Amino acid sequence: MAMETDIRRVDILVIGGGVVGCAILRELSRFDVRLALLERNPDICDGTSKSNSAIVHTGFDAPPGTLEARLLAQARDLWPQVIESLHIPYLQTGALMIATSAEELATLESEIIPKAEQNGVTLQPLTREAILDAAPYVSPAILGGVLVEGEGVIDPFWTTRACCEHAVLNGARVFAGEAVTAVTVEDTSVIVHTSGGLTFVASMVINAAGLWSDEVARLAGDSSFTLTPRKGQFIIIEEDHGVSQIILPVPNRISKGILVTPIVFGGVLLGPTAEDVLFKTDFSTTAGGLRQIREGITKLVPVMAEAASVESVRQFAGLRAVSSTGDYIIRPSTVSARLLHVTGIRSTGLSASPAIGRYVGELVRDELGLSPRAHYVEELPEYLAETYPGEGDVICLCRSITRGEILAAMRSPLPPTTLDGLKRRTGVMLGDCQGNLCMPRLVDLFQ
Ligand SMILES: Cc1cc2nc3c(=O)[nH]c(=O)nc-3n(C[C@H](O)[C@H](O)[C@H](O)COP(=O)(O)OP(=O)(O)OC[C@H]3O[C@@H](n4cnc5c(N)ncnc54)[C@H](O)[C@@H]3O)c2cc1C
Repeated sequence: MAMETDIRRVDILVIGGGVVGCAILRELSRFDVRLALLERNPDICDGTSKSNSAIVHTGFDAPPGTLEARLLAQARDLWPQVIESLHIPYLQTGALMIATSAEELATLESEIIPKAEQNGVTLQPLTREAILDAAPYVSPAILGGVLVEGEGVIDPFWTTRACCEHAVLNGARVFAGEAVTAVTVEDTSVIVHTSGGLTFVASMVINAAGLWSDEVARLAGDSSFTLTPRKGQFIIIEEDHGVSQIILPVPNRISKGILVTPIVFGGVLLGPTAEDVLFKTDFSTTAGGLRQIREGITKLVPVMAEAASVESVRQFAGLRAVSSTGDYIIRPSTVSARLLHVTGIRSTGLSASPAIGRYVGELVRDELGLSPRAHYVEELPEYLAETYPGEGDVICLCRSITRGEILAAMRSPLPPTTLDGLKRRTGVMLGDCQGNLCMPRLVDLFQ
């Protein structure tokens, strides 16, 4: 049993350091509370939040009337302020939905445009000629399409880290490398044990453990929902070949289809597939999946399909959390109002995260009667900008990253604890040399 001195008492404990958990942490840090987050991996944003298309969707195609559609609509209004106050790089690319058959053209008119209107998004119909004028890289075989002006791309890790750091700046504590292993619900509190031997007693626990949140719920004796993994494979192309907009097909009932998506820091993402798989640990990329991506892309942007065959490419896969309800699940557990599930956030969690955070923040505020924090810091300082004289020597030659930037990452509210964490924050070891040149300098720096 934990000694009384080992017990950490908090008002609110968030389980899961994905974009959803970190957006919630940020919103909760506006209140005068003791706040902590547990993440089982050594760093935040190491689950589904790191492996997605990185699109900030408008929600034009969300099922109208669902919680997902409502929160995506609210997020549209919240994003500009989030991007500005957290200094998140964002590209407003717009998205072109392309019809390649008469049937798809009819679907655009009869289903997609009316559904978007129900969701408060106006789509602009475009002729084949107008599309080819604006995006000459699109296949000449297309028949027409629509422009979704409000869509854009963002960096998921940057977004998650910035939300988390903003919360830390406002008093939240983050415990990475601590998996939740036991949850006991009592009358006025929830007791949580971790793999590292920590014990937390919280007035309220938020279960934002992504694909694993049904397992966390079961630890507390709640089997009211299940989550199954749906894999999405991707190909990364380093050259953008002139592609500057998100290009997507007319969706089918299972997924939004295979997309061509510019990456905010350069390059293009092709994918994802949508494959129901058995295991929550199946991140494999397969010959069949990659072939499916190439075939899908050939119909939209042939130059990209060619690039995927001949250029040096990288691949990865992410797992969507498909819920048994078909909508976001944001509600108290069946065992206690003090355990709140925020889960089943399948394909749009990055886009909806500011609104999910706000919604959960308000639910918790009302449940616990919270008041605002006295000295809330509204803005996160610009990332890696705080360097000092004498720190200007270059450590990473491929990407011109200075010692000052690396030290700024180490001084940030959520410093990396692993080399991988440093890589994700600064870009060192990600250049052409893959760390061969900068690794010895990094070792020197840290010695
Ligand atoms: C292929 C694909 C494409 C997508 N494209 C987009 C897109 O373009 N735009 C968009 O908005 N959304 C997109 N999504 C959806 C989006 O990525 C998810 O909705 C979002 O990342 C879910 O975030 P999360 O925080 O709920 O889950 P996660 O990011 O998985 O976070 C959950 C965290 O909980 C931790 N955890 C699990 N169990 C425990 C435990 N026992 N103790 C402590 N911690 C635990 C995990 O390690 C993980 O870090 C896509 C998803 C996929 C798979």
